[in-house]
Amino acid sequence: MYISEKFKSISPSPTLAIDSKFKQMKADGLDVVGFGAGEPDFDTPQHIKDAAITAINEGFTKYTPASGTLGLKQAVVRKLKRDNGLDYTTDQIIISNGAKHSLMNAFGAILNPGDEVIIPAPFWVSYPEMVKLNDGVPVILQTKEENNFKFTARDLISAITPNTRAFILNSPSNPTGMVYTVEVLREIAQVAVEYNLYVISDEIYEHLIYGSTKHVSIASFGEEIKNLTIIINGVSKTYAMTGWRIGYLAAPRELAKTMGSVQSHATSNPNSIAQVAAGVALDGPVDDLNMMKKAFKERRDYMVERINSIDGVSCLMPDGAFYVMMNIEKLIGREICGKIIESSDDFAQVFLDEKLVAVVPGTGFAAPNHVRWSYATSMENIKEGLDRLESMLKGE
Ligand code: PMP
Ligand code: GLU
Repeated sequence: MYISEKFKSISPSPTLAIDSKFKQMKADGLDVVGFGAGEPDFDTPQHIKDAAITAINEGFTKYTPASGTLGLKQAVVRKLKRDNGLDYTTDQIIISNGAKHSLMNAFGAILNPGDEVIIPAPFWVSYPEMVKLNDGVPVILQTKEENNFKFTARDLISAITPNTRAFILNSPSNPTGMVYTVEVLREIAQVAVEYNLYVISDEIYEHLIYGSTKHVSIASFGEEIKNLTIIINGVSKTYAMTGWRIGYLAAPRELAKTMGSVQSHATSNPNSIAQVAAGVALDGPVDDLNMMKKAFKERRDYMVERINSIDGVSCLMPDGAFYVMMNIEKLIGREICGKIIESSDDFAQVFLDEKLVAVVPGTGFAAPNHVRWSYATSMENIKEGLDRLESMLKGE
């Protein structure tokens, strides 16, 4: 079979793979508990669903402009002003099929073959694959747990080569949950300007922060950095709308124009009904978001405390998103349920096979001694999952 080298080099998304395995096991009647894919367990708020139903009934069921409706772009412009203090115009906004698609557009627009993109690790699984799909070269910048998994301006400089075109900034981060302070962001922005690097700023978890560190968009430090930044965002996480598939980006005008052209051939517009719903989400009340945030915070606090009380594992307190990276270094080489654990893949496999608990091994995030738990699931499930972890590690 003749297959392109590029497509052959891409591995499937491990987060989505774990999630579909978990869903299949559940459908098969197994008592499995899932902490795999990061998607809010809450339903999409009713007023957003109602807006979509009205859109259908009013016949808003035809093609829209390929890069998104003017109405939704205006809602995004309002959102960027309100939440981030940023001034954009609608010709700088592209609406796409989820933030994943926005990211693909962004990499496509800025990369020529061989261009390097610095990706701080642990990273969200899809970044390196997306860079490769767009003929770029991922350059991994490893961070350390003792530095809260964060990189500094200095670290960034050490990874820059003459081929560096861009770097990824994902704050709050998937999978570590870490949030960069305004001081560090300012220093990072200075490096971007000095070296003329694009910043792909993935801000999809901006509203899911539980500590005192505030989200600040790196684009807000002035015109120079704004002209180098592509902001990625979407409605999946903030409004529990993962299945609706609406993401958006804000970029310098010329870049946005090229992305709009590509999208007009590749996918045409994102779903017309979902665009109406996303506009209502962005302009609407934040009560549901606040309720979700409160629940996530309680779950995070519980999960972190429990993990740190169990022998052999530990974790940091994440500031945002809805993930906990559990360190399993002390379990490497140990026998659990008759199997020697040599990697986080082994651990995740044993945990699933023996205790029916699905977590994501850190391998795909470039964090081989960690596994990722998502706490976007009920407190009951979280208690059950941690009870099973405790009993497994006690040899029960
Ligand atoms: N960026 C990050 C960091 C994510 O965790 C996700 C989750 N899927 C996305 C982007 C993409 O989100 P979506 O395509 O659902 O908008
Ligand atoms: N971003 C979520 C996660 O990391 C959803 C799955 C995915 O798109 O990778 O689990």
